Amino acid sequence: METLNKCPVCNHDRLKAYLSCTDYTVSRETFKVVQCGSCGFRFTNPRPEENEIGKYYRSEEYISHSDTSKGFVNKLYLMVRNYTISKKVKLINRLTGNPQPAANNLLDIGCGTGEFLNACKENGWNVTGIEPSEVARKNAEQKYNIIPLSPEKLFEISEKKFNVITLWHVLEHVHRLDTTIDRINKILSDEGVLIIAVPNCGSRDAKKYESHWAAWDLPRHLYHFTKKDIEALFKKFGFKLSEVLPMKFDSFYVSLLSEKYKTGKSNLISGFWNGLISNSSAKENGYSSQIYILKKS
Ligand SMILES: [Zn+2]
Repeated sequence: METLNKCPVCNHDRLKAYLSCTDYTVSRETFKVVQCGSCGFRFTNPRPEENEIGKYYRSEEYISHSDTSKGFVNKLYLMVRNYTISKKVKLINRLTGNPQPAANNLLDIGCGTGEFLNACKENGWNVTGIEPSEVARKNAEQKYNIIPLSPEKLFEISEKKFNVITLWHVLEHVHRLDTTIDRINKILSDEGVLIIAVPNCGSRDAKKYESHWAAWDLPRHLYHFTKKDIEALFKKFGFKLSEVLPMKFDSFYVSLLSEKYKTGKSNLISGFWNGLISNSSAKENGYSSQIYILKKS
């Protein structure tokens, strides 16, 4: 395990206990989230080191890297994924003025099995993916003829190459946060767009479910961002936040899972209801997960 003595956002060393939370999907171990006494940022501490975290991803229920469609929640997840992929492509086209921008190089970091990249490819983008899981990389190659790079290759990409870089629910998993964002900054073109989607621990569903909130997802989620944290973190690297967009389905998905963690069984009505409440109070708290559009300032 690795203990951080300073806040990854503001570098302050006054850290206080925030909550303890069980890993419901893989290890059943308990982990802690601390909060920075200065900027309020919350992060998992201590956390498994980069070379030992792999074992916390070994679960049949952790479906981000595969395509299991067992169980209602997983089926729902896959259905929604297909819908949201087309919405993501539309978003990118809107932000860049596609269909035919002058340069159209897109990088997806943490591309999994390549569904999103394949949709971008079909929309005329030159796509590159980065993915730590070898199994997922092989799947992407077999299914879509896309060959993702392993993470260390991020440092071999030429500067300003990409005009869009996306991280869909990935940044919260990255150990070397500063090094990674610094590298993203270098390989993104001056007019480029950086798109970051992460859970929002300030949301209504996070407050409602507290330590049972599924998107704490300890110890796989190392950081727990709010809009304020994203703004402060990326400001250090010369980015400004230009837009925040909702991921409305995540409120339902996360509430359904949280309900299961809290009560030990699935409760569709209660999960759905709390997802609805979360979305309807988003003006005040933000959505369960949000998309942040960042540009170089
Ligand atoms: Zn801080």
